[in-house]
Amino acid sequence: MSENYHIHTQLLHNDHKVCPSTGAVSVPIHHSSTFHQNSFDEFGIYEYARGSNPTRKALEDVIAQLEGGTRGFAFSSGMAAISTAFMLLSEGDHVLITEDVYGGTYRFVTEVLPRFGIEHTFVDMTNEVEVAEKVQPNTKLIYIETPSNPTLKITDIRAMVKLAKKHNCLTFCDNTFLTPVFQRPLELGVDIVLHSATKFLGGHSDVVAGLAVVKDEELGKRLAFLQNSFGAILGVQDSWLVLRGLKTLQVRMNASTLAAAKLAEWLNGRQEVEKVYYPGLPQHPGKEIQEQQSTSHGAVLSFEFSSKENAKAFVENVKLPVFAVSLGAVETILSYPTTMSHGSMPKEEREKRGISDGLLRLSVGLEDVDDLISDFTQALETIESSLVKK
Ligand SMILES: *Cc1c(COP(=O)(O)O)cnc(C)c1O
Repeated sequence: MSENYHIHTQLLHNDHKVCPSTGAVSVPIHHSSTFHQNSFDEFGIYEYARGSNPTRKALEDVIAQLEGGTRGFAFSSGMAAISTAFMLLSEGDHVLITEDVYGGTYRFVTEVLPRFGIEHTFVDMTNEVEVAEKVQPNTKLIYIETPSNPTLKITDIRAMVKLAKKHNCLTFCDNTFLTPVFQRPLELGVDIVLHSATKFLGGHSDVVAGLAVVKDEELGKRLAFLQNSFGAILGVQDSWLVLRGLKTLQVRMNASTLAAAKLAEWLNGRQEVEKVYYPGLPQHPGKEIQEQQSTSHGAVLSFEFSSKENAKAFVENVKLPVFAVSLGAVETILSYPTTMSHGSMPKEEREKRGISDGLLRLSVGLEDVDDLISDFTQALETIESSLVKK
């Protein structure tokens, strides 16, 4: 019934808006590791809390509904969700993965999976011909992340799904940057949607969490088995925090995106800045595809100075943003991919992906955008005299 509402409304009015036994309008936090069974030979819905518990289940149901899936899964971090999903693969399988994937996923795929005989090839996923050429007889998965991190490249999700179906392989899509309010990969044919709920879904820099959603029920059973086997589940307090964050997801995303678009355009016009990466800018090569598969350009952008010194000076002079790892929060977060999100990637690999030492990533929060612009202006002006010109 609630699927008929717009996503705005679904965030508030879903199957868990009222607790059926108490009428509570906030999902109760059930601190119970096990559940009494009334019958000797017939067990209830809940048995042992690693398998399932009512608070986590509420979050799993809500994210499944928002993504248009049949089943959701909550994990103790985005990486726990991603690595558990990779456990669907077996020894001898091969993965095609986007070259500018999140640093933690890069680490898992390059340093953990090979020990279990699972191979990978990194590809430029904006180049469909290249991806098609790299498919091997044992390719079982195409792993998409779009927009990518931190250079905001856009992968054509439908094209990747088509290629995957032709070769009978699965597709995963990391949807952390846009969330279901702006992009719904399952509706484009993707098999598993993955999230770091630490970012926009939680939204307040107060919880580390991960989510996965599937549409296919059989795949859902396999992932449920892995979630219980691996055991990297999200605790009940943290499940509740993500549920609370979700209620304001649409308004936060809308406000942050408006500000991000304005900032991207403004930065693009500043002579101190060499390059701005944002899929909403007219010169962005992925803009058209982005607009076909998503309803927004998102709240994350990156921009590049000609040198590390200039990036450092900017970070040291700017006052409003938090300088930190992470994104997708109420406060604007500035980060330095070279040593933060992509610190686990060797320098030459980073450079191949356009992650230069002058690159900064910005996740726009809920501050007044004019305050951010004033702050950035003074930071650019203070460093102007010392700016190292190319
Ligand atoms: C942060 C992030 C992850 C990892 O999530 P954690 O919650 O930190 O484990 C995965 N993908 C993307 C795009 C991210 O930004």
